[in-house]
Amino acid sequence: MKVIETVDEMRRLRRELAEPVGFVPTMGYLHEGHLTLVRRARTENPSVVVSIFVNPTQFGPQDDFDKYPRNPQRDLALLEKEKTDIVFMPSAAKMYPPQFNSWVEVGKVTERLEGASRPGHFRGVTTVIAKLFNIVQPTRAYFGQKDAQQAIVIKKMVADLNMNLEIVTVPTVREPDGLAMSSRNTYLNPQQRQAATVLYQTLSLAQKLWLQGEKDADKLRQEMIALIQKQPLADIDYVSIADPETLDELDTVNSPALVALAVKIGKTRLIDNIVL
Ligand code: AMP
Repeated sequence: MKVIETVDEMRRLRRELAEPVGFVPTMGYLHEGHLTLVRRARTENPSVVVSIFVNPTQFGPQDDFDKYPRNPQRDLALLEKEKTDIVFMPSAAKMYPPQFNSWVEVGKVTERLEGASRPGHFRGVTTVIAKLFNIVQPTRAYFGQKDAQQAIVIKKMVADLNMNLEIVTVPTVREPDGLAMSSRNTYLNPQQRQAATVLYQTLSLAQKLWLQGEKDADKLRQEMIALIQKQPLADIDYVSIADPETLDELDTVNSPALVALAVKIGKTRLIDNIVL
């Protein structure tokens, strides 16, 4: 496994990789969710590149950029075990030199859900992912369903800008009690960790009611909100039942529908979703 910190070196080694090349972009502090993406890339491609980069431009001024958890030594040991070929770990100074002044912006699908709550977030995501795609030039890139809107936005960017790669979405990996794995779960104290199970319980409730025949999106949203409000440590940011392509909110829930939520547990903002 080679660990690379500069763009030039990454480009040089890229030319030597066997095709096709699978790519997994991450912000590090790896868990089983990330490693599932790496394993999927490993089974589908003779070469696997993973990037670790905590991208400053996707964090707002109130966000957790400074305290975002980091442990590169542990990450590298885990990636070595997964037989990763190259780990690309550029510095922020290399990715955003002082003269940097270009941005990639995707339209309407970035305005909803996460985009509405975190202005500028997706502009940072699409810009860094476009840069990473240009540097790594993967055949396929792997994204988690955990960040459903991110995967939708990236697919839209790739289609609209004719980027020459395939985007693969991988199912969400969960803890035994249903909590979606996330680097941010590390912020939770034991009491908050217990409270955080309310996210998956709420998604499961929506699925159960829908399977029992409830197709009225407002009624489903109300039931979801009521369940979250029973958890004193939880603070709702949004509860959404939307078309999985356009992210338009639905009135009537026919398949497929994206049920997504963002909930703060203490100061930690968690997101999760399921597709009906
Ligand atoms: P991050 O390091 O949070 O930027 O995540 C890197 C990639 O891993 C993204 O494509 C995420 O959607 C994906 N990912 C994070 N958590 C999970 C999870 N629990 N299950 C599946 N994929 C995940």
